[in-house]
Amino acid sequence: MNAPVVIIGTGLAGYNLAREFRKLDGETPLLLITADDGRSYSKPMLSTGFGKNKEADGLSMAEPGAMAEQLKAEVRTHTHVTGIDPGHKRLWIGEESVHYRDLVLAWGAETVRVPVEGDGSEAIFPINDLEDYARFRAAAAGKRRVLILGVGLIGCEFANDLILGGYEADLVAPCEQVMPTLLHPAAAAAVQTGLENLGARFHLGPVLTRLSKVENGLEAHLSDGEVLHCDLVVSAIGLRPRVDLAAAAGLEIGRGVVVDRHLKTSHANIYALGDCAEVDGLNLLYVMPLMSCARALAQTLAGTPTPVKYGPMPVTVKTPVCPLVVSPVPKGREGIWSVEGQGADIKALCHDADGNLLGYALTGAAVMDKLALNKALPSLLA
Ligand SMILES: Cc1cc2nc3c(=O)[nH]c(=O)nc-3n(C[C@H](O)[C@H](O)[C@H](O)COP(=O)(O)OP(=O)(O)OC[C@H]3O[C@@H](n4cnc5c(N)ncnc54)[C@H](O)[C@@H]3O)c2cc1C
Repeated sequence: MNAPVVIIGTGLAGYNLAREFRKLDGETPLLLITADDGRSYSKPMLSTGFGKNKEADGLSMAEPGAMAEQLKAEVRTHTHVTGIDPGHKRLWIGEESVHYRDLVLAWGAETVRVPVEGDGSEAIFPINDLEDYARFRAAAAGKRRVLILGVGLIGCEFANDLILGGYEADLVAPCEQVMPTLLHPAAAAAVQTGLENLGARFHLGPVLTRLSKVENGLEAHLSDGEVLHCDLVVSAIGLRPRVDLAAAAGLEIGRGVVVDRHLKTSHANIYALGDCAEVDGLNLLYVMPLMSCARALAQTLAGTPTPVKYGPMPVTVKTPVCPLVVSPVPKGREGIWSVEGQGADIKALCHDADGNLLGYALTGAAVMDKLALNKALPSLLA
């Protein structure tokens, strides 16, 4: 039998690539390998599950068996790839070797963890896949007070969602504003105020240093001396593209696995997309870019080499208490910000010296302007 196209990972990148590929090629053997349970789900829904009162099962869209049938593929679940041998076009699952025609790395990013002193660390939950979500939901049942580490996009979304689900939320992060790498301060202030009005409590500046079990839950000690009481902790301090196995196999690594516009790594017949990939210098951990990559790579794998293009990539942040859409200024570009509006309704725009729009942050009623503004945004990979 011909060696299959092998995709490592069944997140949005892996399954969408498989779907796009099958639209073009119904015959080539296709094997998907995943360390998790292989259920198909939409990861962005993980930070809206409490407000909608959805268990993990309710967020799952298809079992791996149904996906295998739909994709005319083999799906191997709970199977951890342990090595890649590009010279022999094979990968390792422990002692077992699997040959590939083409290999696609769609193995995502892992949550950043920081060491915390004390005996409460098993109450710290990262939530980066459906199984994490299921574990957190089980632990949160009957509890009330959640401490969230991180005030990035994911930390803020979880705060909004947990409060909608009936929880209290304290947020801790060593920075001066929410979403510091993404948002103009005026927009950040609008989001923070919205969340505070909902009941969120922000502790900006310190980090969590110690988490100790006490009679009625946990005591969280912050580096500025403050002590907070909580029942469990969500860790949302960042994601790091998975690169270790690729680095060990000699592939070029930057912020992620380095690929060109054809999604090809530094080694022939090995490709990457999704959270693990750095595409022509960009490692964007969002759904829109990976969908563009899936469509282009499917063409390439089906015999028509096709470079990926990125148009503008605005991100809608799921903080319904203060609607937010942001289009960050592209890497390497600089401009001047102007801010209109006040309170919850902020329109922050960044223009270059020639008056071209480079990026924006829109909150509240100003999100209505996004469609018109999107037309003026630069493409990220033209
Ligand atoms: C809570 C949350 C909310 C989000 N909301 C939004 C949003 O609103 N909009 C947006 O655009 N983006 C959002 N994102 C980001 C978006 O969901 C991700 O960019 C996207 O889902 C990443 O998909 P992926 O397939 O690259 O990675 P993943 O979904 O992480 O999939 C990785 C796959 O690789 C497998 N794997 C890893 N290592 C191995 C191994 N060694 N062997 C075998 N299998 C392996 C895993 O089991 C998994 O199947 C959100 C992210 C989170 C966490």
